[in-house]
Amino acid sequence: MTSVAVLSGDGIGPEIVHQAMRVLDAVNTQHKLGIETAEHAFGGAAYDAHGTPLPDATLAACRNANAILLGSVGGPKYDEAPRELRPERGLLRLRAELDLFANLRPAMLFPELANASSLKPELVAGLDMMILRELTSGLYFGEPRGIEVRKGVRTGFNTMVYSEPEIERIAIRGFEIAMQRSRRLCSVDKMNVLEVSELWREVVERVGQAYPEVELSHMYVDNAAMQLVRAPKQFDVIVTGNIFGDILSDAAAMLTGSIGMLPSASLDSNGKGMYEPIHGSAPDIAGQGIANPLATILSVSMMLRYSLRQPGAADAINAAVSSVLSQGLRCQDIAGDADTQNITVVNTSAMGDAVLNALKASA
Ligand code: NAD
Repeated sequence: MTSVAVLSGDGIGPEIVHQAMRVLDAVNTQHKLGIETAEHAFGGAAYDAHGTPLPDATLAACRNANAILLGSVGGPKYDEAPRELRPERGLLRLRAELDLFANLRPAMLFPELANASSLKPELVAGLDMMILRELTSGLYFGEPRGIEVRKGVRTGFNTMVYSEPEIERIAIRGFEIAMQRSRRLCSVDKMNVLEVSELWREVVERVGQAYPEVELSHMYVDNAAMQLVRAPKQFDVIVTGNIFGDILSDAAAMLTGSIGMLPSASLDSNGKGMYEPIHGSAPDIAGQGIANPLATILSVSMMLRYSLRQPGAADAINAAVSSVLSQGLRCQDIAGDADTQNITVVNTSAMGDAVLNALKASA
């Protein structure tokens, strides 16, 4: 039996997760996947009910599950809560407890949405790349760190650090993901300046010897930033460290024009993962029934592909989303100028209905 822990969270979380669950239930039945799901308290909702954003029972359920589906957490209501009990702290702790060190951020742009990008449509239409960012080490975690007085001058400092095992495990993930896609992996570093990057490149090349089918290339991070906005379709999978991945994945997300469309995943070394849209809890539209559920629905697709190893069901969801977009259906965040583009603006549940209908039609 495969089990999925479902954490709806706060704000629009429950609204978008509800639609994603309908889609998961449908492919579960259609493809006979035998997936069991159970909902658990998390985030602000858990703080309200249990006094903590990550109750022990929720953590235990997440440890036991094969994968976790998360909506979003947080909201202005919790700004006054003690720092350690804020919803976002629960999320950071959950990632740390489960050792989710590999962050996958796809940047994909359905051809129908090419006009939503800040780049020319021909540069981005059909873009489908994956950025794999190391999430639990590197500059954001390295010691020593601090602010101190050195020779009478206040000085801030951080340490960019990667051990061989840390590089090895993210590199392995990178090659594994490349194997599931078009077998091209670009490792991004700053080897011309940083010793930590010298080791990074050496280890990535060594790991690559076990994956002769994957074409490995290397790129300096400054060039990668340029190439992302010049010709993003040249990339398939990028693997990189924490800070470089943080910056590049946000830039790549913007290429697609809408955060309401983008899923993400954080994986451990066994392939267990937490899947969530990249956006937050959108308190400004929560409760109105207008949030775009597609990023969460596409998170289900990623979960099926990367943790549950069901590429057929994952492809079926992607095809259903594509079909809905080609029918001209849009939530308000991706509607653009609805009058001139012959499109229909729909609410959250109608978008869920449309994806379900497209799934049924293709079955
Ligand atoms: P946000 O992503 O929630 O919203 C930014 C803007 O995008 C808003 O105008 C919102 O209406 C819109 N938007 C976001 N998702 C949408 C969707 N699915 N459909 C339509 N429009 C959508 O970012 P924010 O406003 O900076 O943060 C709000 C709260 O979310 C904060 O408490 C923040 O800490 C939290 N947050 C949580 C996560 C997470 O759970 N992983 C991530 C980011 C922010």
